Amino acid sequence: MTLISPNAPTAELQALDAAHHMHPFTHSADLAKKGARVITRAEGVWLNDSEGERILDGMAGLWCVNIGYGRKELAAAAARQMEELPYYNTFFQTTHVPAIQLSARLAELAPGNLNHVFYASSGSEANDTNIRLARTYWAEKGAPERKVIISRWNAYHGSSVGSGSLGGMKGMHAQGGMPIPDIHHIDQPDWWSEGGDMTPEEFGLERARQLEQAIEEIGPEKVAAFIAEPVQGAGGVIVPPETYWPEIQRIVKKYGILLIADEVICGFGRTGNWFGSQTMGITPDIMTIAKGLSSGYQPIGGSILSDEVAEVIAGTEFNHGYTYSGHPVACAVALENLRILDEEGVVKQVAEETGPYLKEKFEGLAAHPLVGEAKIVGFMGSLALTPDKASRAPFAADAGTVGYICRERCFANNLVMRHVGDRMIISPPLVMSKEEIDTLIDRAWTSLDECHARLKAEGLMVAGTR
Ligand SMILES: *Cc1c(COP(=O)(O)O)cnc(C)c1O
Repeated sequence: MTLISPNAPTAELQALDAAHHMHPFTHSADLAKKGARVITRAEGVWLNDSEGERILDGMAGLWCVNIGYGRKELAAAAARQMEELPYYNTFFQTTHVPAIQLSARLAELAPGNLNHVFYASSGSEANDTNIRLARTYWAEKGAPERKVIISRWNAYHGSSVGSGSLGGMKGMHAQGGMPIPDIHHIDQPDWWSEGGDMTPEEFGLERARQLEQAIEEIGPEKVAAFIAEPVQGAGGVIVPPETYWPEIQRIVKKYGILLIADEVICGFGRTGNWFGSQTMGITPDIMTIAKGLSSGYQPIGGSILSDEVAEVIAGTEFNHGYTYSGHPVACAVALENLRILDEEGVVKQVAEETGPYLKEKFEGLAAHPLVGEAKIVGFMGSLALTPDKASRAPFAADAGTVGYICRERCFANNLVMRHVGDRMIISPPLVMSKEEIDTLIDRAWTSLDECHARLKAEGLMVAGTR
């Protein structure tokens, strides 16, 4: 048996990784030439790699480690549950205590009449569930022709065939036969890139009214639901203008279609409330949850349904479920994570202390010559890079060229900050302290400086057209 030692030289680990491990959303041949960075352990907001470097995690893993790394209580909860009942299904008229406890807790935390949880192991699976829930809901109500789900370009709802179809990532649709039928996309509320001469307020209304136009064009009797992230995450942390969500809420109400809020990133404190829907003032019928639910310590996701939707679904046998729906170990860990987030006042701290502090410092980055706009809600923010602030121009180079250079500078300065096109984004663990925020901002500024110097040297500070 070949089992390589965890202390093997980095090059050896990288070679085996390249030989046998295929990475998600990765050009594998390119990565094989560079070698992946080997992360060995983590504590708080800090990652360690196999070369002994200490890296500040500005992304909370992949938007999920809200509680920070190294919480022994979560490990203990998993160990306890594994010893007592490592697995049992919930398909055949059986249940177990962790699923009961977590569901009751989520019903308490979720706003309004969102009181019923259907579990999955990821956000993708949960959104696949939502496609079937929304259509089954209408079929049960005697309107089986209501099948169309409206979503937005540049939305991210997951990577399975169903959830990837809901999402609006054209690069994903181009591979493997997506989208599935009866998914319709409207434009996103990204004022910086697409707002033209409109004010943000005008633009927010224009983009929201695209929903009404789409419903009218498709025919209101055919539309089942609208799905959206309260604040788009993977699309580049797109904070919508203030006029956007109230108008969307008016339209879904007018036509009586379901509103599905994809809270996979926004949920569990990220925006300074338990859910992004609360921050944006919306009332969804279904919420998608995952990521911060367990702070990434266990794979778990789900859909939280309103009383009304759950009651309709309860009237039929819903032919859907996953072997690991309501997995007891994942539920036990999620429950412990929610306990700590609550008892240590982490969500409150983001709302009242570290969130406002991060906002002030992060918005200060807009003074950098490369940064056109710095937008942040709670603990998720983005910087739009531009060669010309006044005109909000993009770079002449292919989208993402500059973002990639900036991301590489961040990585070299031991800061994890992602790029989406030519936007730089952060989503730190919610436990990040003010001192650590200072470090994040210092490293970001240094990286922006280095990126700027390189762009000038390479003649890349050139405006293009949209
Ligand atoms: C990450 C994400 C998903 C998909 O979750 P997975 O656990 O990766 O399947 C869905 N929706 C949003 C908003 C996400 O950010």
